[in-house]
Amino acid sequence: MGGLPSVLKNKRGHAYILEGEATETLALGQAFAKGLNCLASQEVNPCGQCLSCRVFESGNHPDIFYVKGTKTTGIGVDDVRDQIVMAMTTQPFRYKYKIFIVDKAETLTPAAQNALLKTIEEPAHYGVFLFLATGVHTLLPTLMSRCVLVKLGETAKTPNAEHEALAEEIAGNINRMDILETLALYRRFEPYKESRESMTQQLDMLYLAYARRISQAASKGEPQCKQWHDSISAVQHTKQVLAQNGNFQLAVEMMLLRLSGNYSF
Ligand SMILES: [Zn+2]
Repeated sequence: MGGLPSVLKNKRGHAYILEGEATETLALGQAFAKGLNCLASQEVNPCGQCLSCRVFESGNHPDIFYVKGTKTTGIGVDDVRDQIVMAMTTQPFRYKYKIFIVDKAETLTPAAQNALLKTIEEPAHYGVFLFLATGVHTLLPTLMSRCVLVKLGETAKTPNAEHEALAEEIAGNINRMDILETLALYRRFEPYKESRESMTQQLDMLYLAYARRISQAASKGEPQCKQWHDSISAVQHTKQVLAQNGNFQLAVEMMLLRLSGNYSF
């Protein structure tokens, strides 16, 4: 693989989500972790020769941890408390950073994500968190907004381009639409009426469109837009209503009005 993406070289944050194909995110996460603790590194490129690099390669680095779920249901709140929150209360053993690599971060339960927020928001200077995920739609906006999102390649669960285009179109423009234009967007959803799966994908894409805005603003230190968070709630709510066989058209129109930011319910 080539060098690290520049967003990593600059080390602008201390918490990162690497989104992409599993082997790729793991390789990049490991290179980054190794580079951060490398004793000789320039621009976070691991030298491969120093003690830290060699110890890492042996699989026994005292300050780089792989966080694992201990239950089949995913990475739970106990895992996060035991393996991250507690571990962060002590200084690194020998090297500059204590680095936590959370593979399959998409399996973090919501409770586990909540348990992490404080640690990530106010980390000790030595804490670095790498969340490796094949997709980010299960990650809470509150977690994403505290992390720098690094999207690798285009292999990351490539959603149907049509869904992504519609989601971007809505997230980018709906706040400038009047009520008739907003409601007219319903027609774009109508084809999904008979296919719950397509509709779920479309809603996931919408969720992602807003989550990305939150995460990107956070990574650039820009202010968050409250409307993005409201929009995410609106999308999640719509998913629930449809899962309970609520009226399709009504649910979509209500969602569109909420996304437009001009109407609250
Ligand atoms: Zn090194």
